[in-house]
Amino acid sequence: MTTATLDPTNPFGQPSALPYGLPDFAAIRDEHYLPAFEAGMAAERAEVEEILGLPEEPTEENLLLALERSGALLDRVSMVFFNRTSADASPELDDLEERLAPRLAAHHDAIYLDPRLHTRLEALHAAVEAGDQDLEPDAAWLLHTLRLDVQRAGAGTRPEVQAEIRELNGRLTTLETSFGRHLLADTNAAAVLVEDRAELAGLAEGTIAAARQAAQDRGHESGYLLELSLFSTQPVLAALTDRGLRRRVHEASVTRGAHGGAHDTRTTLLELAGLRARRADLLGFEHHAAYVAADSTARTTEAVDEILGRLAPAAAANARAEAADLEAALQVDEPDATLEAWDWPFYAERLRQERYALDDAALRPYLELERVVRDGVFHAATALYGITFTDRPDLQGYHPDVRVFEVHDVDGTGLGLFLADWYTRESKRGGAWMNNLVDQSALLDERPVVVNNLNIPKPPAGEPTLLAWDEVITLFHEFGHALHGLLSDVRLPSQSGTEVPRDFVEYPSQVNEMWAWEPSVLQRYAVHHETGEPMPEEWVETMLASRQFNEGFATTEYLGAALLDQAWHQMTPEEVPTDASEVEEFEARSLAVAGIAVHGVTPRYRTTYFNHVFGGGYAAAYYSYIWSEVLDADTVEWFTENGGLLRENGDRFRQALLARGGSGDPMDAFRELRGQEPRIEPLLARRGLG
Ligand SMILES: [Zn+2]
Repeated sequence: MTTATLDPTNPFGQPSALPYGLPDFAAIRDEHYLPAFEAGMAAERAEVEEILGLPEEPTEENLLLALERSGALLDRVSMVFFNRTSADASPELDDLEERLAPRLAAHHDAIYLDPRLHTRLEALHAAVEAGDQDLEPDAAWLLHTLRLDVQRAGAGTRPEVQAEIRELNGRLTTLETSFGRHLLADTNAAAVLVEDRAELAGLAEGTIAAARQAAQDRGHESGYLLELSLFSTQPVLAALTDRGLRRRVHEASVTRGAHGGAHDTRTTLLELAGLRARRADLLGFEHHAAYVAADSTARTTEAVDEILGRLAPAAAANARAEAADLEAALQVDEPDATLEAWDWPFYAERLRQERYALDDAALRPYLELERVVRDGVFHAATALYGITFTDRPDLQGYHPDVRVFEVHDVDGTGLGLFLADWYTRESKRGGAWMNNLVDQSALLDERPVVVNNLNIPKPPAGEPTLLAWDEVITLFHEFGHALHGLLSDVRLPSQSGTEVPRDFVEYPSQVNEMWAWEPSVLQRYAVHHETGEPMPEEWVETMLASRQFNEGFATTEYLGAALLDQAWHQMTPEEVPTDASEVEEFEARSLAVAGIAVHGVTPRYRTTYFNHVFGGGYAAAYYSYIWSEVLDADTVEWFTENGGLLRENGDRFRQALLARGGSGDPMDAFRELRGQEPRIEPLLARRGLG
């Protein structure tokens, strides 16, 4: 086909001949990407043209399976390219990514808005309803999700409505980008300059040096610049002893985007909320939140509201109880003072130290990376699923730091490859994540190749990598995503592994965190790297005991943001405020109505700097994290009730949940595993709420 136009030396032209289709990184060069993308889009257009132009009635084979087989070249290059731009980028690749984004979006739109696709999907649906055609269950689910995708793209609407939706989509993308740019500028402008070093008391030397450097970098002749993170509650507040400076930092943080002038985000966010409501209306949804929920496991905003509404009072009550403790601690320093938002992290940290003195530096020698992986992460997976891991130093990753492991099933058959990219570097974006290089699919006869990325600082050559406790949890978490990909056993590539809705995808990875705490696992991996001694028992107990500390605050600030997100997106176009002066009042009213307004707790993000929902893809979906955690906590309870780390339990979780990926309604998988609807009580208990 059109792939013939691709230079025959371009390694994306053919499926890789390496084991498991591992991309041939030694052969891939930067100049291969653009031609492969162009040939890939052309090839997919031609393939889809053929599928939609067929004169015969649509069937599972000629429509659904044919679509699943299409776009192979584009998939190959996309997976390698987007893995590179997140894990090992360069200015050239970033630039290419930016240039490709609108072209890929238009390519996608051209397929989803093709009226023939809509017609053929509806015809197949009608034939199935009439009993004239029978679909395999995975194909039936694919038909369901494709019809929804196409409907949500606006394919079923009149041409003039479609034209308006296209225009709205373009305007929304522009506004989101502009929100992010203004927010970044205002966040930089809001950094707090401190002239007197004495005011910085409490900060570590390294933090002070960084603040000095930041001031110099921004052209200040003297002083120290405290730069702001995206969160409302700035991390430095936990350390700063000067109450006046704490207040300045906090106020600078929570007024971002609301200063008037060039970087005020209020007009932008109001237009965004209004246009999203308008688009939802055109597409036949009550509001934008309903449009988003339709594509999730929650399905309706009523279900979202119910979960958030049940958590809110319990979280707020606990936060108020925590505030009373903290206020007592504050009054030792300042009699009669009222606890304010800028005091909370400082006194919480002081109480945490008093109650659970645990020194990060003392823990590290017991948490050596290699040991944590082999005797912790891998060991738990072997105990649960019978799978084993073999180093494959002969296989090359996309960067010298990447390790390649082959994964075998319990009977010895090869399951897939696991690539581990643990270390931080300048070319890698922040955070931790999992992605696929090859999707598992029986239809395409492909086994999975998955990657875990973390940002662990690399020690000097020859020294061991000693971890902080939260890095251990992150290793287990990301490996939970990897297992979802590796143990996938589906036919269709678009339903492979982690191809599940956003409010479901964090669930298996959160469940996998439980094995970090499992005593039999912890005893194996938490061993001093020099002496071989196990971690002292009482430290483990202290860590367990400290898990609920300050959870009232953490849950309240999270729910504040999640409820604000819902409030902004559960409106008809007419209900959205239009004047910038109404934003603050709308926010205060929404938090009060939701019962989550607690003195001293600011939502994790306030409206004017809520980049997840106004600058990007989490609009009306910020609730997803807690939704996944409800499923996670309930499943942890199921494992515990059934004896914990046992092959029997692992096999059940694998078959009911991990293996199925997105090949059916994910909530059916949950119900089959648990035998009932998800319950919220295990999450409340975990967080010590209610
Ligand atoms: Zn995750």
